Amino acid sequence: MTRTAATAHPSTDRAGLRFLVIGAGMSGILSAIKLREAGYHDFEIYEKTDRLGGTWRENTYAGVGCDVPSHLYSYSFALNPDWSHRFSPGGEIQTYFEDVARRYGVDRVIRYGQEVRRCAFENGRWHIELSDGSRDVGDVVIAATGVLHHPAYPDIPGLDSFAGVSFHTARWNHAVPLAGQRVGIIGTGSTAVQIVPSVIGDVAKLSLFQRTAQWVVPQDNPAYTEDEKAAFRRHPETMKQLRADISRMFADMFSNAVVDASSPQLQAIHAACVANLESQVRDPVLREKLRPDYRAGCKRLVMSADFYQAIQRPNAELVTEGIERIEPSGVRTRDGRLHELDVLILATGFRVDRFMRPMEVVGRDGLALEEAWRKGPIAYMAISIPDFPNLFMLNGPNGPVGNFSLIEVAELQLGYALQLVDRIRAGECREVSASREATERFDAERRQATRKTIWASGCRSWYLDAEGVPAVWPWSFDRLREEMATPRIADFELR
Ligand code: NAP
Repeated sequence: MTRTAATAHPSTDRAGLRFLVIGAGMSGILSAIKLREAGYHDFEIYEKTDRLGGTWRENTYAGVGCDVPSHLYSYSFALNPDWSHRFSPGGEIQTYFEDVARRYGVDRVIRYGQEVRRCAFENGRWHIELSDGSRDVGDVVIAATGVLHHPAYPDIPGLDSFAGVSFHTARWNHAVPLAGQRVGIIGTGSTAVQIVPSVIGDVAKLSLFQRTAQWVVPQDNPAYTEDEKAAFRRHPETMKQLRADISRMFADMFSNAVVDASSPQLQAIHAACVANLESQVRDPVLREKLRPDYRAGCKRLVMSADFYQAIQRPNAELVTEGIERIEPSGVRTRDGRLHELDVLILATGFRVDRFMRPMEVVGRDGLALEEAWRKGPIAYMAISIPDFPNLFMLNGPNGPVGNFSLIEVAELQLGYALQLVDRIRAGECREVSASREATERFDAERRQATRKTIWASGCRSWYLDAEGVPAVWPWSFDRLREEMATPRIADFELR
């Protein structure tokens, strides 16, 4: 079965282009809204699950929240006067996306339960195959496939032998009550640090298995008062100003600083982390166990108002001895001790190098994405891949991912991609993709620039690729804005 253009409005369509949007998370919803705004009405949004929301649909673990301020973690065109806190809980963010999708009439046109299995560029168009066996054809693909949704399971012997209940944080089992249970958590990233304070009051015992200590920057998270929310509603321009101020502050204090390991801002962040540890953790032995041996910001910075308090509760134990294996009754550490558990939670993060995969993507002349990415995922400006014409990734490889508002990033990237599509609309070409030469140059410059960043200052993190080079955008947020403002058209192959 081949789909017809269910959403087509031929009279208003620009250039008769048909778009296939893959994914109905933050970037997919954004794409639909902006395509319509630009006059492109012929599109489909394919979503593999039965609900929109992406990351926020997948991550429903206890204490889930966003450590980017709410007014920045919102679409610039759909500000929300009703955010409850400076940093919002995950459920509220999911509701926000559902609400925006409803208001803009996007939810009605999403094709749920339709996983795109294959996407091939043949005879000048993209041909896709879906999980139900149906097919579709389009001119432009927007891969809004997300970053943090393929759980990384630890390779620990005996994991399957555990007799209690075990689950990954992105597959939270809400049917399992934690109250009164002996709970183990493996991992000390942002996720685990959010879970610990939210469950410590309920569980009988919490064992937190730490392989590497994390720097924790204090987070001040006041609630917005009803008066403040009413004022935002009455004067939306104040929300706009607040968003712009937060964005500027975020860029100056953090985003532009992490790319220069010698920046004074990073030193200030490090000092704030040290002061937080020293003022909050009383027991000197525990304090030293929690003290990282690398610089703050090298791993993704963890923010928390209450993690240190929670880990000092009498029913909490920080286990720093390495894990030997998992046994039916719990976790055996290398010192021979068995930590008996009823529930084992894997807060072990995500496979961040997947991007569009496991979807099979085939570009011009049968070039498989697996082949193009044999040495690792790479994309010109994090958006376009040579010989994969008219395919644009949002939050793709080599982009800014750590402690940035990915919404702000996706808006910039989509605006950039639509400028390239406009070349097709204008009749200048039928196919546009980054040139091989420009992509190689971009990647060489990018790799060179990573040397100065804090991510290359000596720690293990998910920012690093298989060769240990940070796989992310190594320049300032301001540079991203400048690059995204207008594509360097000479870096593209237009056919
Ligand atoms: P993560 O940052 O990748 O942390 C994974 C943790 O699991 C690390 O502590 C890691 O230890 C540990 N680990 C992995 N494999 C292990 C093994 N075999 N044995 C022992 N420990 C193991 O994952 P995450 O906390 O889920 O966070 C993922 C990303 O999600 C974050 O970095 C962030 O971008 C995002 N996130 C964002 C927010 C937000 O508020 N915006 C909230 C939560 C998560 P090592 O450090 O030793 O590798």
